[in-house]
Order: sequence, then structure tokens, then C-alpha cells
Amino acid sequence: MNHFELQEGELACEGVQLAKIAEAVGTPVYVYSSATLQRHFTVLREALVGAGLKDPLIAFAVKANSNVAVLRTLAQVGAGADVVSAGEIHRALAAGVPPDRIVFSGVGKTQEEIALALEAGVCEINLESEPELKLVDAVAQRLGKRATVAIRVNPDVEAGGHAKISTGKAENKFGVSMAEAERLYAKASNMAGVRPVGVACHIGSQITDLAPLEAAFRKMRALVERLRGEGLSVDRLDLGGGLGAPYFNQPTPPEPREYAKMIARVMAGLPDIQFAFEPGRMIAANAGVLVSRVLHVNARPEGRKFLVLDAAMNDLLRPAMYDAYHDIRPVKPRPGEPVTYDVVGPICETGDTFTRDRALAPIAAGDLVAFMTAGAYGAAMSSEYNSRLLVPEVLVKGDRYAVVRPRPSYDDMLAREQNAPWLA
Ligand SMILES: *Cc1c(COP(=O)(O)O)cnc(C)c1O
Repeated sequence: MNHFELQEGELACEGVQLAKIAEAVGTPVYVYSSATLQRHFTVLREALVGAGLKDPLIAFAVKANSNVAVLRTLAQVGAGADVVSAGEIHRALAAGVPPDRIVFSGVGKTQEEIALALEAGVCEINLESEPELKLVDAVAQRLGKRATVAIRVNPDVEAGGHAKISTGKAENKFGVSMAEAERLYAKASNMAGVRPVGVACHIGSQITDLAPLEAAFRKMRALVERLRGEGLSVDRLDLGGGLGAPYFNQPTPPEPREYAKMIARVMAGLPDIQFAFEPGRMIAANAGVLVSRVLHVNARPEGRKFLVLDAAMNDLLRPAMYDAYHDIRPVKPRPGEPVTYDVVGPICETGDTFTRDRALAPIAAGDLVAFMTAGAYGAAMSSEYNSRLLVPEVLVKGDRYAVVRPRPSYDDMLAREQNAPWLA
């Protein structure tokens, strides 16, 4: 469920018409619903708690939407943060996420990032390899600390979805094998700078089938039992993120309640364990839209009709990068029979095509359209390619809205660079 609906014939976010925001802030612009963000988080937590998982740690994957106001909106209802860089640690802290709800993931953490995480007091560093274990141990000892760590395991299951976002096969760069995890966990238990508290996995993104998740979670449970059987203490099992969001016209992901029930079934009778989760997309995707204005309707004599938008692949990369499907809705639908359009941006690359042969209500130049389900991996992946200004972000709450990342000026853009002395 989300809070983007037609009100008096016009698409609104909660109590604010999208056209009103577009008028005031300009286009393209991302618009997020506080109510949808908080609702998705709460529905997930209630499903997990309702299935009997006590006090789960739900760390929102910051990479999906790293806007600080979005993080703060989620922190207000109890979300932690799953971070993958120093920048994301700074964002989570700036948003007021308690350090004891911050999980530091990622395949290549630098010494500086590890030190920052330890100084901030994050609750868990997920280790992806033996060299990383040694590095964290060394950094922690240098700082006179003991790092709370989990070993990220690659459970070697195929999670479906797009190859670029599948992470749980042995050939992927993430995590260590089950056997390696056992060896590293035992080794870590004897190191002065680390304290292993658990194991973690994350097998992919936009997963719409519970079967691969269940297969991975069964292996994780067996691993916990083997480690405990060896006399090692395991307090936390981090099951990652990856649950899909309902993109229109695409395979429907399982309901949070089905996901939670499956976990409760797989983990039944496993005592004294805290579960952690790292959802990104399922929380944020349907909580955001990208609003864009139609610059031209370009009807080719040979038949194709192109909608040329003021948004481009640099603002919303998913269609170009993952062949992703976004529902596109006119903000003020016109009456009439649907027309088939190719929807493109103004960048000089064929890849700057959002979709081809899409049937939409008739559209005229100057109309606004909204890319739905754009709250995750949207603004977070945007760039200034073609020296287009970074797209602004707006947060709505009820009948109010605030610009939470303004559109920079061209002076701001140029001020980040400086001349080389020999060019003066
Ligand atoms: C990307 C990522 C997530 C979030 O994935 P979603 O599909 O957005 O839920 C969680 N954990 C890790 C380690 C990740 O890399």
C-alpha cells in the first residue's frame, strides 16, 4: 500500500497535489511519502514480532535511499541503519539513528571506515573475508577496542531477480562459504580485537519468491547450530534484505507476513537468538515517485511517438542499468483512448530510454508524469551526468511538504571544482 492516489482527478502524495510541488520546486523532482515509509517499516516489524521473533533489529539499507530526512523519518519509528561506507555512517548518525542500531556491511571496508565505525560504536560489523577479519582486529586493537562482528556467509543459492543484483551464489564476490565461516568464527573468537556475535547473509535484491530465501535461511540455521555445537556463542542471526517491492505489472513479492511466518517456521526451536534484517527496497520503493515534465511529444512519420521528458537516466538509472520497469502515470490524466509511447530523456545515449511501446492515457507537451515506485535506488543512484543538476528531493507529511535536498545552482556545481595552477 502507498499514499500516492488520485484526488479530484490529480495525483497526490498524502494530502499534497504533485502538481503543486512541481510548480514550486520545478521538475524533475523526487517526492517521498512519510506515511508510506513509516507504514512499510511498521508492517514488517509487526509481521516479524507477530510471528514470534522477539525484538528484531531492522536496519534500513541506507543505500536504497540515503536522504537524511528519510532516514530520520524511519528512525522515528525505530529503524536502525545498514550502512556500506563512511558516508553512510555519517548520514545515519546525522539522522539520529542510535549507533547500537547501525550495522556496517560491505565487501571492501577501509581502515579509516572501520575506525570511524568503531569510534561511533556501531552494533555490528559484518565481515566478508579473512583479510577483513585481520584488518578489523588490528584497527580495533590499535584503538583499544573490541569490535562486535558477524561473519557474512554466502549460502550459495540462486535468488532470481536481475544478475546485477544477485549476491548469494558462490561465484559472487560477497561473503565466505559455510565451511570458511566456521573456521573464521572460531578464529575470531580467539582474537583480542574482535568479538564474533553472529552470522549474516544477504542473497540478492527484488526477490519475489520465498523459496531461495528459505533455502538460505535453513543453511544459516544449521550453521548457527554447528557453531554452538563447537562451544562458540552465537547471539545474532542477520538475515539481510532483498524482499521485493511490488513494481506494477511485475511479479508480486510475498507479503511481509508470509516472509515472517516462513522465518518463524525455519527457526522454530532455535533458542536465544536475536534476528536482524536489512531491508531497503521493500521499505522505500513505493514510498517515492519521480515527477517529470513532458518537454515534447515527438511523433515520427513512420509511426513511433516519443515522449521527451525533462528527467533522464542520470536522475533514474534503473531502467538503463537493470532494464527495470516503472509504472508511469500522468499526474492529471486526460480523457481518451490510450496511446502507445516511447518514453525517453534528453541525454545523448540510446540507453536514456525509460520504456518503449508503453500504452498511456493521451499526453501533451507540458504535462507532468510520475514514475512510480522510485523511492528506492532512485535519487540514491542519481548523478550529474551531462552536467545536469542533481535532482531535488521533497518529503511530504500529511498536507505539508518540505524540500529536503534542494536543487543545486550552477554556481554550486562549478564551486566543487578548482583550476590547475598551470591553467591560470
Ligand atoms: C543492498 C543490500 C541490502 C538491501 O537490499 P534490498 O534489496 O534493498 O532490501 C541489505 N543488505 C546488504 C548487505 C546489501 O548489500
